[in-house]
Amino acid sequence: MAEHIENAVASEEVVSVNFIEAEINKDNEEGVYGGRVHTRFPPEPNGYLHIGHAKSICLNFGLGKEYNGSTNLRFDDTNPEKEDVEYVNSIMEDVKWLGFDWTGEVRYASDYFGQMYEYAQKLISLGKAYVDDQTAEEIRQTRGDFNTPGTNSPYRERSIEENLALFEDMKQGKFKDGEKVLRAKIDMADPNIVMRDPVLYRIVNAEHHRTGAEWNIYPMYDFAHPIEDAIERITHSVCTLEFEVHRPLYDWVLVDWDDTEIPRQIEFARLNVTKMVMSKRKLRALVEAGLVSGWDDPRMPTISGLRRRGYTPSAIRDFCNRIGVAKADSTVDIALLEFCIREDLKLKAPRPMVVVDPVKVIIDNYPEGQTEIVTVENNPENEELGSREVTFGREIYIERSDFMEEPVKKFFRLAPGKEVRLKGAYFITCQSVIKDENGNITEIHCTYDPETKSGSGCTRKVKGTLHWVEASTAVDMEVRLYDYLLCEESDNKDFIADFNTESLQIMHSKGEASLATTVAGDHFQFLRQGYFVTDKDSEPEHIVVNRIVGLRDSWAKQQNK
Ligand code: ATP
Ligand code: MG
Repeated sequence: MAEHIENAVASEEVVSVNFIEAEINKDNEEGVYGGRVHTRFPPEPNGYLHIGHAKSICLNFGLGKEYNGSTNLRFDDTNPEKEDVEYVNSIMEDVKWLGFDWTGEVRYASDYFGQMYEYAQKLISLGKAYVDDQTAEEIRQTRGDFNTPGTNSPYRERSIEENLALFEDMKQGKFKDGEKVLRAKIDMADPNIVMRDPVLYRIVNAEHHRTGAEWNIYPMYDFAHPIEDAIERITHSVCTLEFEVHRPLYDWVLVDWDDTEIPRQIEFARLNVTKMVMSKRKLRALVEAGLVSGWDDPRMPTISGLRRRGYTPSAIRDFCNRIGVAKADSTVDIALLEFCIREDLKLKAPRPMVVVDPVKVIIDNYPEGQTEIVTVENNPENEELGSREVTFGREIYIERSDFMEEPVKKFFRLAPGKEVRLKGAYFITCQSVIKDENGNITEIHCTYDPETKSGSGCTRKVKGTLHWVEASTAVDMEVRLYDYLLCEESDNKDFIADFNTESLQIMHSKGEASLATTVAGDHFQFLRQGYFVTDKDSEPEHIVVNRIVGLRDSWAKQQNK
């Protein structure tokens, strides 16, 4: 037994080093960057960030902190047609909300367009780049494939002077979109297709959200990114696995960069989560199709959606830590994310009573017009949250699902002739029900036993304890219950067709009086119902709450198995 405990303590203390930290440690030992660690988070401002980006944020800013280094926030804004300041602002907000701060000013790739242009001229002068007149289609067709080498462009042997002049004309806007490109002159037979004279610049006659009409040519990601990193003197350029085959090109681009410390690219596996769509392009399609209310719809896996849903920064950071950093792609069960928010709120959130799907209960032997105050703990698992006073009276609401006229086996809640405990109040016994013309129950008539008041020392036992809300003091609430964005059988491919049309259910609920003053962002556990947050749509006259997650903890159960 003693040994078992010792092991448990020891394993808590082991600091696990992920493979990126191992690489950094090696560089530090070898003095590659003089001990400097400078990372960056480089989003393209073409949509709102999602939980996958949160992983990249936690990783990059986490490394910066861990090594007493720096982390830049840099907008990779090289694609004018898809980008917008709305996205720039939301991304800055999300990074801050997650609890991170960037080093110095926010950076923009577009601020480096001049330096990139000059560097491209340098490559042309070194005979390492040329202007190609082939169409995009021709370039694609002459690239070859895995088994066949590509073929050289007829424009590949242009003179340096002609290339410099044409490149300048491209910049001046003398050509239409797609008429010419600047290509690297590497090797059309390279086994790595990425290295077969990749395009470095394309003509795009579009307004840029920061540089306006100044540029008619824009650099490709593979050319721009290493230069951005080099200008900012990034040491470790962390990106996702699909860029692994691009690494030789990253290094090729920087061969002639004038610096003794050239950044290096390190790839890790991107985060995928079950039941979630993880791509800005796909998320934008959901917004544009009107299937969700916006980028911050509480069903969206965006950081703004998770925030509105009630996820906390610490829960998301905890999730990112638990999944770790790997070199092989995998999919994480959404249950782990749900586990993390439950863990975070379990002790922090007060637990008021809300009847989500109410049915009226009338306690016939309780004096008409009388009410009384009962005391209920705010969070039985955390004494520090104290207790509150709740009104009890003759008419209350309970959950419709807490009553069965013909109870099935093991149904320990209310049924004709059955007695249950009302949380913090009395025992009641069902005597009769009243139904409308459709057979729906409209009132449940009960009697209570005055000897059973909570805390009075009554020793009689009942199996069921129900939450309830007193009718005359109850607050009307709109409760939004969410299900997963994608339907059960989705294979995550056709996300529009697989959209779960039943993912939002709106309930007209009754809450105890203490909820009248709730404001957006308040977190709760509604007794027996799950975790909730007050939505930004909420107003004093119309309270709106979102269910973050139910109480059922499938993750912990899975772990125990
Ligand atoms: P998306 O396809 O969702 O738009 P992206 O990779 O194009 O993603 P960027 O704005 O270029 O989005 O991403 C900024 C940073 O976030 C990049 O370094 C990228 O590798 C990282 N990133 C994006 N998606 C994920 C993910 N699912 N898991 C981990 N990191 C991610
Ligand atoms: Mg992208």
